[in-house]
Amino acid sequence: MSEYTEVERPFLDQLAQQGWTVIDQGSGIPQQAGPSLRSHFREWLLPGVFDDAVRRLNRTNDGQPWLTDAQLDELRQQLTRHSNRSLLEANESVQALLFKAQVGTNELTGESDPVVRLIDFHHPENNRFHAINQFRVDTPGCVKAFIVIERDGVVTVRPPARMTPEQIDQTVLSKRMWIYRSLAEWRELNGSRVNREWVSGETFMYLGSSYRLELVAEQDEPLKLKDGRFCLLKGIVNGAGTDGASKAFAAFYAAKGQPRLARRVAYFAPKVGVAAGRVEVKDLGYRWASCLKGGDLHFHWKCLMAPLTIIDYVVVHELCHLRHRDHSNAFWNEVDKVLPDYQRRKEWLRVRGVELDI
Ligand SMILES: [Zn+2]
Repeated sequence: MSEYTEVERPFLDQLAQQGWTVIDQGSGIPQQAGPSLRSHFREWLLPGVFDDAVRRLNRTNDGQPWLTDAQLDELRQQLTRHSNRSLLEANESVQALLFKAQVGTNELTGESDPVVRLIDFHHPENNRFHAINQFRVDTPGCVKAFIVIERDGVVTVRPPARMTPEQIDQTVLSKRMWIYRSLAEWRELNGSRVNREWVSGETFMYLGSSYRLELVAEQDEPLKLKDGRFCLLKGIVNGAGTDGASKAFAAFYAAKGQPRLARRVAYFAPKVGVAAGRVEVKDLGYRWASCLKGGDLHFHWKCLMAPLTIIDYVVVHELCHLRHRDHSNAFWNEVDKVLPDYQRRKEWLRVRGVELDI
């Protein structure tokens, strides 16, 4: 009895009965990439299968496949090239491409920026399915990929299922220099993370400037910016404590941010050439902003702590996502057209973003 005879083989048989193309590589680890339709084990996408399937799915009204070889090549690269991106970002960008990919021009009809269907969601029967067992993938960074420094600085190890605990220990140990280096880098970037004491004299950022906090006994609102100071009602700190105080700040930023961001969105949308939907300012966790399918834009209230030039960059970044859901070259070109110095602003956010906290 083996996993192969009891699990894999029966499953492959079932898939074959449902019309899948099955490639059965037996139970050993493959030594040749050819049988699994690739030229080497670094490739995780099957180029021939991809080209064939995507060409078939994209036809003009009279049934002509219109994608050129160069365009198929470009699409494959959009899916597979993710250097300098975190695993999460790469995942998001691939997922966005599955819903909407684009190429320059439909050379048969002349249509520009035509949408390419990578999956036919409306007619599932048009898609092709392959099942391959023992699908070996050799990733250059595979060791690092399972040791991850999370955004909160915690080191997480997610080993492949087939590794024994001893192998895992050994790998982690052998990678300890990389882990130390990455943690040092994380600390450098996050060292300025704010740790608050809610006492008079503390400073808080608003639109890139810092203002001192003053605890006041009486006022008509929980938090006000008055005469160059953040005046916070003392009762809030004494009563609800830190939590109440940070909520008052979050509410302040959200209330100020809503009209301000709506104005900036209205200003930049025509420059990007898109129509934006509703603007909301709220807590978005680790994200600065997000754009929704219908064109609605959400911004983190923390954006309001940043200088105006940075807020504008976040706005333009999201508006450009209404044209390109990914972070492809086409996307950055779009950002560049509106903000030629966007790189500087982007870098500011990467390095100084952690300071924008309460
Ligand atoms: Zn983005």
